[in-house]
Amino acid sequence: MVALTFHFHGRLNELLPAGARDRPIDRVVDGSPTVKDVIESLGIPHVEVDAIVAAGVSVDFEHRVCDGESVEVYPDASEVAGLTRVRSLKPPPLPPERLRFVLDGHLGRLAAYLRMLGFDTSYSNHAADDALATLASREERTLLTRDRGLLKRAIVRRGYFVRSDRPHDQLREVVVRFGLGPACRLFGRCMRCNSPLEAIALAAARTRVPPRVALEQTEFQHCPACDTLYWRGSHHARMLRLIEAVVPEAVAH
Ligand SMILES: [Zn+2]
Repeated sequence: MVALTFHFHGRLNELLPAGARDRPIDRVVDGSPTVKDVIESLGIPHVEVDAIVAAGVSVDFEHRVCDGESVEVYPDASEVAGLTRVRSLKPPPLPPERLRFVLDGHLGRLAAYLRMLGFDTSYSNHAADDALATLASREERTLLTRDRGLLKRAIVRRGYFVRSDRPHDQLREVVVRFGLGPACRLFGRCMRCNSPLEAIALAAARTRVPPRVALEQTEFQHCPACDTLYWRGSHHARMLRLIEAVVPEAVAH
């Protein structure tokens, strides 16, 4: 038997039960499991962890825990001087303009919103867990999900557990977590299928829309993949108000 004490820092506490936040957590385990296994058994997927210090020394996920160890677990190594990031399972961070996402089947509204902000977002409402994990790995996409088990898979190297179950709050969370504000490119991507939108000739667009829209609108965009037409009508205005309310930094630059 091995007795351990864990201290989870910063936003990792959001993943713990309310009564266990911001305080030491004692744990007794059999044998000598890896620190990754013990952290994940406490409900924290490895993708949320950026640095681990055991008995005062920076360690990796494969570190075998020892009796009496005190383990500090951090969500972001850069926030504390002298911390070393975990290396295994952990690719270098990407700047926000290079981030691409894959979302699980329960996050359809969030997927549409991220596309609206211009981010390459793979989403299907019937994708199986294996397919999501494989796609995240193969295309270096960041997996967003409310399924902790999915984020504990070793193949998933970039991911985030979405805390809220409300789409507007989810969008706010993801924008803050990944610093997406300056990288937003509003209305650049099809909300239905994720393809980048293209300009379409006014004459061609006008033959396909209701007469009032043809009279009032002078700019149209077109999705080359699913052929959806977009223009700045009432839906566009509603979406813009949503962005201004939830992600003001996306329209500030
Ligand atoms: Zn499309």
